[in-house]
Amino acid sequence: MNFSDLGLSTDLLKAVQRANYESPYPIQIEAIPAILDQKDLLGLAPTGSGKTAAYILPILQRLLSKKAPEDRFIPVLVIVPTRELAVQVAEVTENFSRFLPRKIKSMAVFGGVSINPQMMKLHGVEILIATPGRLIDLLGRNALGISRIHTLVLDEADKVLNMGFREEVEHILELLPARRQNVLFSATTDNEVDILIQKLLRDPVRIQV
Ligand code: AMP
Repeated sequence: MNFSDLGLSTDLLKAVQRANYESPYPIQIEAIPAILDQKDLLGLAPTGSGKTAAYILPILQRLLSKKAPEDRFIPVLVIVPTRELAVQVAEVTENFSRFLPRKIKSMAVFGGVSINPQMMKLHGVEILIATPGRLIDLLGRNALGISRIHTLVLDEADKVLNMGFREEVEHILELLPARRQNVLFSATTDNEVDILIQKLLRDPVRIQV
């Protein structure tokens, strides 16, 4: 199986090649076509499985066919549990994005650092990677809009819940438009994760690696 069998455009295939990814990992083989197809997706996959590229590549492809926003209404939101993961996902996104025909602006926002510099950079962001607490702070200051999100990714959902972010996530979900694509990744499941899966995903494609 090659990356070229997954429905990725020439632009994305070039970006994959430049990143030195030779062949797709199992999770990418299943997730990339499903996400391109605008399906909801449940990925039971640990770190190291290649889950980041599995969702970022099809998301970048979908964004390329649209115009960049000229305001602070974000089209794609990735919720992550920690600053470390936020930075890591932003790096992967940036790495692929460098080789695309148009720059896709992504940004990581997380707590523990001052909020003002983050607020000033939100204009035109297409992929926002956020920890729940900081996202709520930014929303409280009207620093961005999430009512036009067309794709939501909840990465490491088990960890998001274990860190006590359930209420924050529920609050964020209430502010999103009803019509959107939802992607959830989790390394483990328990009752709480199951409840979130039920709430978030509609008829999802299920992948376990
Ligand atoms: P992740 O699970 O997303 O944190 O990815 C784990 C590591 O695998 C990262 O260092 C990626 O750069 C790398 N990686 C992901 N997909 C591929 C691939 N198809 N070929 C080679 N390396 C990959």
